[in-house]
Amino acid sequence: MSDSVTSAPTDRFDAVIVGAGFAGMYMLHRLRQQGMTARVLEAGSGVGGTWYWNRYPGARCDVDSMEYSYQFSEELQQDWEWTERFAAQPEILRYAEHVADRFDLRRDIAFATRVTGAAFDEHAGRWTVRTDRGEELSGQFLIMATGCLSSTNTPDFPGLDTFAGDVFHTGRWPTDGVAFAGRRVGVIGTGSSGVQSIPIIAAQADALTVFQRTAAWVVPARNEPLDPDVQAAIKADYPAFREANSQMIVAFGSRYPSNDVSVLAVDPDEQQRQLEARWNHGGLQFMGAFNDLMFDPAANAVAADFVRAKIHEIVDDPAVADLLSPDTLIGCKRLCLGTDYYETYNRPNVTLVDVGTEPIAEIVPGGVRVGDEVHELDTLVLATGFDAMTGALAAIDIRGRDGLALRDAWSAGPRTYLGLGVVGFPNLFTISGPGSPSVLTNMVVSIEQHVDWIAGCTAHLRDQGLATIEATLPAQDAWVEFVNAVAGMTLYPSCNSWYLGANVPGKPRVFMPLIGFPTYAEQCAAVAAKGYEGFTLSA
Ligand code: FAD
Repeated sequence: MSDSVTSAPTDRFDAVIVGAGFAGMYMLHRLRQQGMTARVLEAGSGVGGTWYWNRYPGARCDVDSMEYSYQFSEELQQDWEWTERFAAQPEILRYAEHVADRFDLRRDIAFATRVTGAAFDEHAGRWTVRTDRGEELSGQFLIMATGCLSSTNTPDFPGLDTFAGDVFHTGRWPTDGVAFAGRRVGVIGTGSSGVQSIPIIAAQADALTVFQRTAAWVVPARNEPLDPDVQAAIKADYPAFREANSQMIVAFGSRYPSNDVSVLAVDPDEQQRQLEARWNHGGLQFMGAFNDLMFDPAANAVAADFVRAKIHEIVDDPAVADLLSPDTLIGCKRLCLGTDYYETYNRPNVTLVDVGTEPIAEIVPGGVRVGDEVHELDTLVLATGFDAMTGALAAIDIRGRDGLALRDAWSAGPRTYLGLGVVGFPNLFTISGPGSPSVLTNMVVSIEQHVDWIAGCTAHLRDQGLATIEATLPAQDAWVEFVNAVAGMTLYPSCNSWYLGANVPGKPRVFMPLIGFPTYAEQCAAVAAKGYEGFTLSA
């Protein structure tokens, strides 16, 4: 299948891969292993994706380091030593760079190169990919490793460009850092990035004003240095540990699984004991205290009341505690892990401003105006998140059969088969695309599963002398219905989360990720085993 000349530079490849985060890096490695040529195009100047861009203070993984890493190489997972329970951004970036060096990936990655468009040539059965450098590349396959949380969301605040001080988005943090000492800093947004950065900015800045639209649910991370004995014990049989995690619904947390008991089946003392144990343990497994927290509003309310009581215990000023206490379901939006988050609001230099009831009116040169009051600021931090799951894809002019634009095909919300293929877009694959478990899992596990499946698929086509693969409409329709049906069994679709696109004005409201990794992985394997059932393969 390889139709490129190996000894000379070429713009013709078996595959063009967009993005050099964990997905694009591993995709390149896998295709190379099976003797295919590939070029990776990356907008950033280095590898690592999320961990390249999100250098804000406190940026950290919410999944244990021993799990949030590749498993494709036993040597790699044995050699790499993590230092903390939850790795911080610099350590994860070092890891990504180590992987790039170790597997000699950089020579096939074009950095500082943004893909602007891609069109499928039906005649040739190939994709033509355009970049902002004016290049055109040709690939039989186009593999979108563009990331679920890579397209930053900046709300349209009137006057933002008039602000006299510096403005930083957490998802585009400068590589040389930001000095907050002596500054009056404003942080807009209290999602995960805000929750991680606020305590650190508060400790450095003269004054910090936090603008909160919706209070986040925050449970303690309880990060700590990684116990060398724990690391050694896991490494003694890393594959077994990985296998156990792949059987978890979220693809992580096998060492601290969910309790398979309803919160409503135990007495109030036992409810508190279990929730307290999870609170003290730290981490996202808080939601695993009982098996019905994401299924039954009454069960969810027990956990929500527990956390609200904690907030009131920690925060000195009852009015501030009230404002920090969400009135929504817990866990419905992405649960946040915090380190001294609620404690930070006891600092004399921190002010919480409610912009849920009275929205930000405008940004003025000297600060942020809410109602009649201008909050005077020198530096503004936008912790306003991402156009999740579809934003990076929609930013590219992707044209399939008959010039069909992906943006148009998805105008009422994304539709995929398995989160991997899209009707009308032959030989296009989306890694951790909408309709796959992606953001509801340990994403490195989901990424590796997708990459392995795509690599297997492209090898199959080559071995069978086939040119194209495309999802069929009935398979895609049935898949979309299945993803919705699974979500509908839970409480997830009932709140305004970015899983639904609710954080981006005008974005169609569709629950995008599929809940449940193990069943999904089995379904993907079964589709492949049945000769790519639900896809049309053609010569
Ligand atoms: P990314 O890492 O996002 O990489 C995509 C790359 O594609 C980027 O480098 C981008 O520049 C590039 N790109 C996009 N569009 C173009 C274009 N048009 N042209 C060229 N290049 C392009 N996941 C977890 O499982 N656990 C966590 O605890 C966790 N914490 C997170 C914390 C933060 C702050 C963020 C933002 C995300 C977090 N995630 C977490 C999700 C994280 O995105 C994934 O775990 C993983 O890093 C995604 O890898 P990726 O390669 O798919 O995408």
